[in-house]
Amino acid sequence: MIFNFTIFLVTLVAMEGVGFLAHKYVMHGWGWFLHKSHHEEQLGAFETNDLYLLALGLVAVALIVAGNSGHDPLQWVGAGVAAFGLIYVLVHDGMVHRHWPARPRPRNRYLKRLYHAHLMHHAVKGRRNSVSFGFLYAPSAATLKKQLRDHRSAPGDERCRDMPGAAMGRDLQNG
Ligand SMILES: [Zn+2]
Ligand SMILES: [Zn+2]
Repeated sequence: MIFNFTIFLVTLVAMEGVGFLAHKYVMHGWGWFLHKSHHEEQLGAFETNDLYLLALGLVAVALIVAGNSGHDPLQWVGAGVAAFGLIYVLVHDGMVHRHWPARPRPRNRYLKRLYHAHLMHHAVKGRRNSVSFGFLYAPSAATLKKQLRDHRSAPGDERCRDMPGAAMGRDLQNG
């Protein structure tokens, strides 16, 4: 049991790394055409970006099915992937973007940190020069602000004029 639980936890933590790489290099790379909807001004209840979540769900189900049909302990890897997806939906869709009627607020320091870090990810509208691609781990607000500043002052950068600095600053103070 402890062995299985360890596999579950290791998978959950590893998924943060997988998610970071997928977000930075796939979703903001060749897969931008699906993720783009999530960086638009008005986020809808359903976006083409949700196909990434669907893919994650299918991977989790496939692993759980494989584990349960004799390929132990893949079902625990699948459970870790599913748990990451579930936390992502609760925190990202529920708390940060508030797609739901309940509109939960970030209450503790850790959740506030995730919340602000993800707002800063959305502070850059285009595909490039964004910050904070991870999710369960977020750098401090000061670090992310510095990264945004560095990107903005980078020569030849055409993207950062979209920085909604005023609106974001207000949100950070209120949060
Ligand atoms: Zn993004
Ligand atoms: Zn988002």
